[in-house]
Amino acid sequence: MIETTLDIATLRKDFPILERKVYGYPLVYLDNAATSQTPQAVIDSIVDYYSSYNANIHRGVHALSQEATDAYEQVRKKLKRHFNAGKDHEIIFTSGTTHSINLVASGFASILNKDDEILVSAMEHHSNIVPWQMLCEKTGAKLRVIPMDESGDLLMDKYEQLLHERTKLVFCNHVSNALGTINPIEEIINKAHAVGAAVLIDGAQAAAHIVADVQALDVDFYTASAHKMCGPTGIGMLYGKEEWLRRLPPYQGGGEMIAEVSFEKTTYADLPHKFEAGTPNICGAIAFGAALDYMNNIGFEAIAQYEEELLNYATAQLLQIEGLRIYGTARHKTSVISFNVGEMHPYDIGTILDKMGIAVRTGHHCAQPIMDFYQIPGTIRASFSFYNTMEEVDMLAAGIKKAVAMLS
Ligand SMILES: *Cc1c(COP(=O)(O)O)cnc(C)c1O
Repeated sequence: MIETTLDIATLRKDFPILERKVYGYPLVYLDNAATSQTPQAVIDSIVDYYSSYNANIHRGVHALSQEATDAYEQVRKKLKRHFNAGKDHEIIFTSGTTHSINLVASGFASILNKDDEILVSAMEHHSNIVPWQMLCEKTGAKLRVIPMDESGDLLMDKYEQLLHERTKLVFCNHVSNALGTINPIEEIINKAHAVGAAVLIDGAQAAAHIVADVQALDVDFYTASAHKMCGPTGIGMLYGKEEWLRRLPPYQGGGEMIAEVSFEKTTYADLPHKFEAGTPNICGAIAFGAALDYMNNIGFEAIAQYEEELLNYATAQLLQIEGLRIYGTARHKTSVISFNVGEMHPYDIGTILDKMGIAVRTGHHCAQPIMDFYQIPGTIRASFSFYNTMEEVDMLAAGIKKAVAMLS
């Protein structure tokens, strides 16, 4: 049954945390959609930075500053290649997807007016809803929602009906963190462009599983967070088409983003520095690069194939549990399983699983509108990464059965 070409047992040795015990049990980490674990190569890149070339970038004439600047800018090039952006300066370092989205939303405040509309999908993360609501309050523009069906697929005919010449922006995640749905972003982008709307795709969840080609997609903006792809927290990126990045005003004022400053007038630095005010997360960016290398060395195709095997096996195992219902059964989905068992509260099951060393997420997963759609308070979410094993799936299934027995 196991067809993967990956040597999972060896890969797991790259992750020191996977050795640890929780309440005396071996850790079974199934919360990868919230954050992924960190391989030694990434940890080493952080230690190496602080041990040998910690310095501020783009400013100093000294050797350390030059080395740090080079390493930081190398990662920009790496991200450009990974996502196939056209130019280095179309990659902006941010603190993560939330920051990237806010940067774009704030920039559009100067572009939208009260007759304009913004479309968001029904399965957005809160970080992809709130900034648009704030933008609508500021500009008077209206927020419209692309509905989804029971399986967690967007209703593309409804989407088409919602699009018209006043639609200025469409926002959608590439992969839903709560349901795992892989959205048909190519179609979403093409249809939006047909009415002249710009598109931002939230790639936070997708980037650990799928390599997006931003030029082939012709997407206007794309985001990623390093901590969901084996990198550290507090660093991420925004890809933006050059013409859009030139049009949007700077997001924050400060050092690094200026060309010339006087009390009368300040002129802004060129891209990408216009959007990177202040001292950035230099070490984080360098570690992001190490994480990208690590994942690319394994290969995203091999990762996706193995994760699909994990998903199929886990789905089959969990569905054998009486009363277990899975939310999000889209045909194209990543290795995320959101579920409930009967009327049992997700938190109760999650707490019992935790006591057995099994880390899952319970709650609304920052996607309350989805929970409202299914009329449930939340779900238990098990999300798998390439370092998870079939044995861990068995432990999860056994753990759920035990929790259900204890609670009923
Ligand atoms: C995790 C996630 C975010 C938020 O990312 P941050 O790194 O916390 O800013 C946004 N959207 C989706 C789909 C996510 O999974």
